[in-house]
Amino acid sequence: MKTEDLDFKKGNGLIPAIIQDAETFQVLMLGYMNKEALEVTLEKERVTFYSRSKERLWTKGETSGNFLDLVDIQKDCDNDTLLILAKPHGPTCHTGEQSCFYEQDFKPDQDLSFIGNLEQLIQNRKKEMPENSYTTHLFTEGLDEITQKVGEEAVETVIESKNNNKSAFIGEVADLIYHLLVLLTEKGIPLKKIIGRLKERHQ
Ligand code: AMP
Ligand code: ZN
Ligand code: ZN
Ligand code: ZN
Repeated sequence: MKTEDLDFKKGNGLIPAIIQDAETFQVLMLGYMNKEALEVTLEKERVTFYSRSKERLWTKGETSGNFLDLVDIQKDCDNDTLLILAKPHGPTCHTGEQSCFYEQDFKPDQDLSFIGNLEQLIQNRKKEMPENSYTTHLFTEGLDEITQKVGEEAVETVIESKNNNKSAFIGEVADLIYHLLVLLTEKGIPLKKIIGRLKERHQ
């Protein structure tokens, strides 16, 4: 990013900077930077603002220790706003909350990305085949056993969907998804391919 292109004039020398968690993409806070604050940020690789209340440069975390380590900076289409990815050392808000925007939970859904982690774990099992692992057992038995299990869990899912036991139904869907991931891994097909196909169909 070229800092010369930035439009500091529009905001009387200040440019707003949106700070996003580099890992979760949660929006953490918004601050203002003047040219010097941006230079210090780039040099120290710690997010530094111009504080309008303190009327001086303010390195976020300077007293709390909750620094924001710089990961990436980009400017917007008309050069008057910054989007900064950072790694927070601790809660970014002075109230102790992760984000200054805590009234509603806009946290990205980490539960969904857990499926990706689970897929990775299953792929590792296939590579390393550790003993006393049910996943290893499935890979040892091979495709017939795995497809048998997928069939069973699909049938159990259908059966439980007709009962009034929500928890049992959730359990069967979980079993089905896990065994499907094992099947995909056995076939050497990453979940990404399935998502790609779903996206194609969506258009
Ligand atoms: P810190 O920069 O974390 O050491 O905090 C120093 C002071 O800056 C705090 O006592 C607050 O007054 C202010 N402050 C800290 N974090 C924020 C924030 N996310 N938004 C606005 N003000 C903050
Ligand atoms: Zn803009
Ligand atoms: Zn705050
Ligand atoms: Zn089951």
